[in-house]
Amino acid sequence: MNPFKQKREFLSALKELNTTEQLIICPECGQKLTKDQLSKNLYVCTCGHHYNVSAKYRLKTVLDPKSFREICGGLKGDNPLGFPEYEEKLTQQRKKTGLKEAVITGTGKIEGTKTVICVMDNRFMMGSMGMAVGEKITRACEYATKNKLPLIIFCASGGARMQEGILSLFQMAKTSAAVARHGEEGLLYISVLTHPTTGGVTASFASLGDIILAEPKALIGFAGPRVIEQTIGQSLPEGFQRSEYLMDHGFVDAIVPRSAMREKLGLLLKLHDRRGRK
Ligand SMILES: [Zn+2]
Repeated sequence: MNPFKQKREFLSALKELNTTEQLIICPECGQKLTKDQLSKNLYVCTCGHHYNVSAKYRLKTVLDPKSFREICGGLKGDNPLGFPEYEEKLTQQRKKTGLKEAVITGTGKIEGTKTVICVMDNRFMMGSMGMAVGEKITRACEYATKNKLPLIIFCASGGARMQEGILSLFQMAKTSAAVARHGEEGLLYISVLTHPTTGGVTASFASLGDIILAEPKALIGFAGPRVIEQTIGQSLPEGFQRSEYLMDHGFVDAIVPRSAMREKLGLLLKLHDRRGRK
């Protein structure tokens, strides 16, 4: 069959299923599950496929109930370089996601231990890092340094935001410097890599965690596999740039399924909690 026709038919069948029976087809195993079934399982298929989730959902599943306090909730980006149609795009993304920017930052408790937490949301312009995202992460990190708190960042990003050009690339140095100052105070930073973490985010704060965790099978890399293959003129090994491959090669410290994330973070925070120690 013509592959384009096949794809069209698949997409229309998928659309129909999603609208009439609200079934979601797993891209990994092809199983059809209802939204309700998935939500009961933290949006993880029975085959282990982790669906992307929103930043708000992530905060709800990781933090102790009612412990979240947002930092810089009103901070949002504009169009510093006058990039065509960027403002319209931002307005549309804000309407679609209910977010002002691609990251939510704040403080909260995990199993009783207070922490600063940043969660990126890749529904908002692919979770790309522009000036506002970089500024929010930097301020959250500085708040953690000042208040001697640990820092957790859930990364999910397509990289630097191209509409902000060089200004978005500045954020790599700025966030990295903030993370370094936090580390100089002997404070813990845990980076959690979720699908996908790429580009300028991988090349800055995502890779700087004292402890780096990843969700199963997340795509983690700088440039995409096609670009690398074309550049080096070689085919890449199986599973390249996936969490499991990066764990085998020492880049990731542990792969943590979503169902175990809260408990794992709670334990790590407790083990590194300096309060009450002389
Ligand atoms: Zn599945």
